[in-house]
Amino acid sequence: MLLIINRNAIDSDINIIKDKIINLGLEIYENKGFNYHIIGVVGDKNNIDSVEFNKYKAVEKVVLIQEPYMKANRLFHPENTEIKVNDKIIGSKKINIIAGPCSVESEEQVVSIAKSVKKSGASFLRGGAFKPRSSPYSFQGLGIEGLKLLKYAGKLTGLPIVSELTSIKFLDDFVDNVDVIQVGARNMQNFELLKELGKTKTPILLKRGLSSTIEDLLMSAEYILSEGNENVILCERGIRTFEDYTRNTLDLSAIPIIKKLSHLPIIVDPSHGTGLWWLVEPMALAAIAAGADGLMIEVHNNPDEAMSDGGQSMLPEKFQHLMNNLKPISNAVDKEI
Ligand code: PEP
Ligand code: MN
Repeated sequence: MLLIINRNAIDSDINIIKDKIINLGLEIYENKGFNYHIIGVVGDKNNIDSVEFNKYKAVEKVVLIQEPYMKANRLFHPENTEIKVNDKIIGSKKINIIAGPCSVESEEQVVSIAKSVKKSGASFLRGGAFKPRSSPYSFQGLGIEGLKLLKYAGKLTGLPIVSELTSIKFLDDFVDNVDVIQVGARNMQNFELLKELGKTKTPILLKRGLSSTIEDLLMSAEYILSEGNENVILCERGIRTFEDYTRNTLDLSAIPIIKKLSHLPIIVDPSHGTGLWWLVEPMALAAIAAGADGLMIEVHNNPDEAMSDGGQSMLPEKFQHLMNNLKPISNAVDKEI
C-alpha cells in the first residue's frame, strides 16, 4: 500500500502516521521527490487496512498496489532512476553501451578488445572472470586473475568494468574491484546472493532468468532494493521458448513493459538473446528503438578461437558498424549516444 502524502502536510501529522505503521509491525519505505511525497507500507497484506489510513489529514490518497513488488514499482517512484557509475549515468538521455569479451582470456586479448570498443564509443567494458557454464568441463574463467586483467584494461582505457559474480564467496573482491556487479541469468533467483548484494552500494546489473517472467525479474530486483541498494539495472537477455533457431528468444516487449511497471533502467543483451553474431546488430537497433537505456554486446578480436560464446561475438569492425548505425536510431527516440 502507498500513502500519497498531502503536499502541505506538517511533520507532526506525518509522524503520527509513521508511528501508526510501526506500531502495526509494518515497514516504512519513504520516497520524497520535488513535488511528491510517498510513504510505502510494507508487510503482511492481511495486516494492512487501507481504510484506517484514509482518515489521516496528512494522507491525500491511499493507493493499493496490485503488484507484489513495491520499491521497484513506478507507482512508488514516479521518476526514472538514474544510476551513476564513475562519470557515466545509466537511465538518462544518454545511451550506454557495455562491450567486451564473453570471458577474459589473457591480458593481450582483454586489452586489445577494450581499446577497440572504447575507440568505437563503448562506455563500459564487460568481461567474465567467473563463468557459469552448462558443462563442468567447459572453460570456467580465469577467476580472480581474470578480474585483475579486466581491471587493468579498464584502467588503461578509462572504461568502468562490469563482471559477473557467481558466488557470495567472492563478494568482497567484486565490491573492491568491479564498478558494476553482474548477476547472471542463472543466478537471478539466488535470493541469498541478491540479499548480500542489497547490503552493498555497488550498482548491480540483474539479468533476466532463462525462464523468468517480467514479474519474477522485478521481484528479484526487489530483493536487492529492499536491503537498501537502490542501484539496480535490469537486463533483458532472452528467454527460453520452443524456437530453436536462436539461442534464446529476445523479448523486446519487456522493455516498454518494464518502463511502464518500474522506474529502474533496462538494458538489452542481444548477444545472449540471439546467440548469433549477425543478429546482434538488428536486435540492438530494435532494442534502442523500443526504449532501452543501453546494450550489452559481446565483442571478440578472434571469435573463432574464443574460449566461450565465439559464435555470438562481434568482430571489432562489426561492432564499429553497429555503433555508427545506432546514432540515427538513438536520435529518433530522443536519446544520445
Ligand atoms: C554473460 O553475460 O556472460 C552471461 C553468462 O550471460 P547470461 O547470464 O545472460 O547467460
Ligand atoms: Mn557469453
